[in-house]
Amino acid sequence: MTYSAPDKYGFFGEFGGSFVSETLIKALDELKIAYRNAKNDPEFWATFHRDLRLYVGRPSPVYYAKRLSRHLGGAKIYLKREDLNHCGAHKINNTIGQALLAKKMGKKRVIAETGAGQHGVASATVAARFGMECTVFMGADDIIRQAPNVYRMKLLGAKVVSVDSGSRTLKDAMNEALREWVACVDDTFYIIGTAAGPAPYPELVRDFQCVIGNECKEQMQDLISRQPDVAVACVGGGSNAIGLFYPYIEEKSVRLIGVEAGGLGIQTPNQHAAPISSNSPIGVLHGFKSYLMQDENGQVSATHSVSAGLDYPGVGPEHAHLRQIGRVEYTAVNDDKALSAFHDLCRFEGIIPALESSHALAWAIENAPTMNKDEVILVNLSGRGDKDINTVAKLVGINLD
Ligand SMILES: *Cc1c(COP(=O)(O)O)cnc(C)c1O
Repeated sequence: MTYSAPDKYGFFGEFGGSFVSETLIKALDELKIAYRNAKNDPEFWATFHRDLRLYVGRPSPVYYAKRLSRHLGGAKIYLKREDLNHCGAHKINNTIGQALLAKKMGKKRVIAETGAGQHGVASATVAARFGMECTVFMGADDIIRQAPNVYRMKLLGAKVVSVDSGSRTLKDAMNEALREWVACVDDTFYIIGTAAGPAPYPELVRDFQCVIGNECKEQMQDLISRQPDVAVACVGGGSNAIGLFYPYIEEKSVRLIGVEAGGLGIQTPNQHAAPISSNSPIGVLHGFKSYLMQDENGQVSATHSVSAGLDYPGVGPEHAHLRQIGRVEYTAVNDDKALSAFHDLCRFEGIIPALESSHALAWAIENAPTMNKDEVILVNLSGRGDKDINTVAKLVGINLD
C-alpha cells in the first residue's frame, strides 16, 4: 500500500484535522485552495527552488564525519548540513515557501509566532526579502531570554509583540498569532514555523521541507551508491524530521528515527518535551489533534528542554501517525547527552551544532558503536549552534558577560 496522508480533510490517520473557530475556517479554506493551486503549478516550484538555490544556498552538502565515526568505531556517520543555510537552520526552507504563497494570495503582511526566535528571524528575513510587513508574536519571558534574536528581527524590519498571557512562552505566542489572524485575515498571512497547526499547514510545511530528504537521496547515491541504513532527526514540532523522512517513507530498507527532547528524563513530570516517547494521551492544541503532554485534568503540561526549539508539548500530526503505523521509531535523548554530543561534534569535526540537532547526533553517537563499520547513519544537522553558545557556557559554569 502506498502512503498517501493526509486525506482530503487534513487527517493523517486519526491525527491532524482543523479544530478551529468558525472565523478561521474561512481563512483556512482560502489557504487550502491557494495551496492546492500552487502545488500543481510548476512555476511556483521553479520560483521556490530558484530562491532556495540563490538566496538560501542550497543544496546543502552531505558530509561524512570521518573523525567522529572512526573515534566511535562503528557505523559511518553522515551529516546533512542544514546548518549551512542562510539564517543557519532548516526553517528558511519553509518560510520562503509560505512567503511565496502569501505573495501569490496577494497578502501584504505576514505574522508569525516564535519561541526561541529562530522562526521569527526566518519570517522577518523573508518578509524583508519580499517586501512585506511582518509582526512576530513572542512570549514575554522568551523576549527576555532571547534578546539577540529579538534585535535581529527588528534589524530586519519586523515588529515584535510581547505576549503576557499563560506561561509567556511559545504556546501562548501561537495562541495570540491565531487570534490576530482571525482579526486581520483579509490582508494577513500566518506563517507557521513547524509541521503543526490546523490543516493544511502540516502538509504544506512538509512539502516545503521535503527538499532536505530529496537532496539526501541524490547525494547519498553519489557518495555511497546507496541509501543510508538509518536516517535520524530531532523532533520538536517535527518539520526538519518530516522533511528528511517523507521522501524515505516508501524505502523500507531505511530505518527512520525521530528523537524528542528528553529534558531531565521522560519519567519526570513537566521536565521533558517528549510527547510521543512518554506515551502522552491524544489531545487538541493550536487547531490540530495529536499526542499532547497533559496533566490528569487535560491541562497542557509545562515542558523543559535544554534546546528552546524542541520545547513544545505537542508534536506534528504526521509524526503521531507515522508512530502509530510503525514506520518511524521515536525515542528521547536527555539534556546531558545532547550537551555531550554538542561538544563531540565541535571537537571531532570543527562544527558547532544547534542544541536541537545535538539530540539527533546523540542518538547516532550512542548507536554507531553497536553497528557494523559498513553501515551508515544519516543525521539531519538541522541548524548551527552559534545561537546556543551562551546557554552551553552557562551550563558548564562559564560566564561570558
Ligand atoms: C526550530 C528548530 C528545530 C525544531 O523544529 P522542528 O519543526 O521540529 O524541526 C530543530 N532544529 C533547529 C536548528 C531549529 O531551529
